[in-house]
Amino acid sequence: MYVLYRTVPKTGDRLSILGFGCMRLPTKKGGGIDEGRAIRQLRHAIDCGVNYVDTAPIYHLGRSEPVLARALAGGYRDKVRVATKLPPWSVRTRQDMDRILNKQLATLGTDHVDYYLLHSMGRENWDKLKRLGVLEFLDAAKRDGRIRNAGFSFHADTVTFREIVDTYDWQFCQIQYNFLDEHNQAGIEGLRYAAQKKLAVIVMEPLRGGNLAGRVPDEVQRIWDEAEIRCSPAEWALHWVWNHPEVTVVLSGMNNEAHIDENIRAADTALPGSLRPEELALVGRVKENYQQLMKVGCTGCGYCMPCPAGVDIPGCFSLYNTHHLFPHDRSARSHYLGRHGGLIGDVSYAGLCRNCGKCTKICPQNLPVPQLMREVSREMEGRTMGVKVTVMKGGLWLLNQTGQIKEKILGIVPF
Ligand code: SF4
Ligand code: SF4
Repeated sequence: MYVLYRTVPKTGDRLSILGFGCMRLPTKKGGGIDEGRAIRQLRHAIDCGVNYVDTAPIYHLGRSEPVLARALAGGYRDKVRVATKLPPWSVRTRQDMDRILNKQLATLGTDHVDYYLLHSMGRENWDKLKRLGVLEFLDAAKRDGRIRNAGFSFHADTVTFREIVDTYDWQFCQIQYNFLDEHNQAGIEGLRYAAQKKLAVIVMEPLRGGNLAGRVPDEVQRIWDEAEIRCSPAEWALHWVWNHPEVTVVLSGMNNEAHIDENIRAADTALPGSLRPEELALVGRVKENYQQLMKVGCTGCGYCMPCPAGVDIPGCFSLYNTHHLFPHDRSARSHYLGRHGGLIGDVSYAGLCRNCGKCTKICPQNLPVPQLMREVSREMEGRTMGVKVTVMKGGLWLLNQTGQIKEKILGIVPF
């Protein structure tokens, strides 16, 4: 059992098509990473050929990077490319960028990061980092060898995506992509645009946070059961992403031994363009079925963006749909709070809608967007969203302050 590799267009670097995402490492009952298990899993995946590991300061509240460092001790560091990210919410000055990167290098126990990303780019984060001199920072960090390849991870609309792609000589980017998000965020359009500009594309959320795998709706499972070749829903979803020749690596947040082996088995055979027309049709029927089960018929085309009030219209609808599609999974609401409440992106929640009507005039699906925004706001936010946003922003600020104070006294920093 071994994984396939694809090439980074600008550098010729060979990356395993399966990457190990360290955002969802196994946890212990009382909370916190189950470090022994996480290390065994990471090393097993690397022994099977996985050579791309992705982490970030915010994952597991600052614990992911140090655990990864310990997993890569004993010779494993030389077998992988390490990817980590600059958290824009922790950056206030150009100096912060160097401070954070240097700290990450120390935490990871390495003299360079192979793939360094600007984390969660959207309009607000991108404008802020650019204004503070991030492009000059990336140039300098590449020149002095602290980073090898520069990229960005992305969660916004296609127009912003194209603008970011065109602004710098990136080696790679990271987008959310799966058969339900084909036209959401960067989507297929962004994927093809990046590939055409010779960027390697790392795909995150191929299983939509696990929702396309495991316990899928009965009507969806019945369609999968019609397939000639038996695959799990997770394997179908991964194969669909790998079927795109523009995709370089698919990140999977693996924390269960059986799932790791299932993903590695799938990565053993997933050549671009290898799905047969009848298999693509089957995925298409599953997608249609999911769309019928969705609460709002938003296709994620993004024509209605930007919203003058700052609402991420397709993003809010997408998580609202997830919330209704997968009622057993209660995480959509917390993702909504984090993403649209401004914890890991721009403040862009539905309750900001001012009912201006601009979007309704443009929407090709004729959706009554302001009315739906009120529904989304009621179900996903409750009445205290403004307070929650202030508390989250305050908490983040406090965490950063504490981190900086700790860094000065002890040499430890969470971000
Ligand atoms: S109606 Fe609401 S969501 Fe639509 S563009 Fe205006 S403010 Fe934005
Ligand atoms: S224009 Fe309509 S379908 Fe397209 S993203 Fe906006 S709300 Fe969704």
